[in-house]
Amino acid sequence: MNKLRKLSVILLLASSLFMTGCDATQILDVITKVADGVQQAMPAIRDVVNTFSNAFGNGNNTNNTNNTADNNTAAVNNNNNQQDNVETGDKSQANVVTIDPNTEEVRDTAGQNATGTQTKSTELVEEIIVGAQIAVPYTQVGSESTLPEATAIKNKYGITILDGKTWRDKWNSAIAGKWTSEQLARFAAVMEKLPRSFRDCTDGFSMQKTLLNNDGGEPSGLGGDPIMISSDAIDSEGPAYMDHLVVHEMTHQFQANNPDALRQWAAKFWPNDRLTRSSISDYGNTDPGEDMAECVAEYFVNPEKMRQHDPERYEFIRQNIWK
Ligand SMILES: [Zn+2]
Repeated sequence: MNKLRKLSVILLLASSLFMTGCDATQILDVITKVADGVQQAMPAIRDVVNTFSNAFGNGNNTNNTNNTADNNTAAVNNNNNQQDNVETGDKSQANVVTIDPNTEEVRDTAGQNATGTQTKSTELVEEIIVGAQIAVPYTQVGSESTLPEATAIKNKYGITILDGKTWRDKWNSAIAGKWTSEQLARFAAVMEKLPRSFRDCTDGFSMQKTLLNNDGGEPSGLGGDPIMISSDAIDSEGPAYMDHLVVHEMTHQFQANNPDALRQWAAKFWPNDRLTRSSISDYGNTDPGEDMAECVAEYFVNPEKMRQHDPERYEFIRQNIWK
């Protein structure tokens, strides 16, 4: 078991403890001590640590011993900020964050070949999957929208609609936002067009006014559970942009729930971590997870453009994701 896999297991343990109300500072301390040993960890792992810091940083940290943990986490997350800078250059970009209860099963089988060793490419994909599978309690980041459209969406699709709270940690912050009736009507129209198995991977959506990296970046979305999206980004890019953003982030939730699909995508289009053919956007060239998210979003908003750009990716989505 290498360090990254140890870290993943500990993160999963921490996740289950967190849900039952265990001492968050102790958990974070364990996570960060291990994380300190993986300075070269991939962005998805750093996002995991970042997300736990977000979750634990909002009023839970009263223990002085946590200072060391914070410092260690900061070292890890300095790298994460570099990743965020790359991501925030384009409004179509969004971070991976959160979710899911299937993680232990994923861990048991992840990335092992016949001799029990991991290849570099499987590590990358497994890290992306772990990063996509983290969740934070909804009450920490938002409160349920009281608009009738939100109630209708929850009843029909099982998706909780949150008006985002203002929060800040060492690396990111968000300004409170609210869904409008018009945005929710558009959101509902997107949900109606999505295949059920794809749609059912998403449980919650929070609208923030603004999302910020503390180094000045302004991502349009933070993936995970709940997904967070920025109304500033939507206002800036136009209402139609929300469709792309929503489907992009939902693809990360699909990856969290269907890790084999991402593994197959990576094996086909990113053998040995190398992109064989360009993704549909520059941001899609970042890694297999963003590649899939960008291509699925394009498949939704402009399927013919996606098909012409890359018939193989188009067919993969049609057969393995859009069902
Ligand atoms: Zn993304």
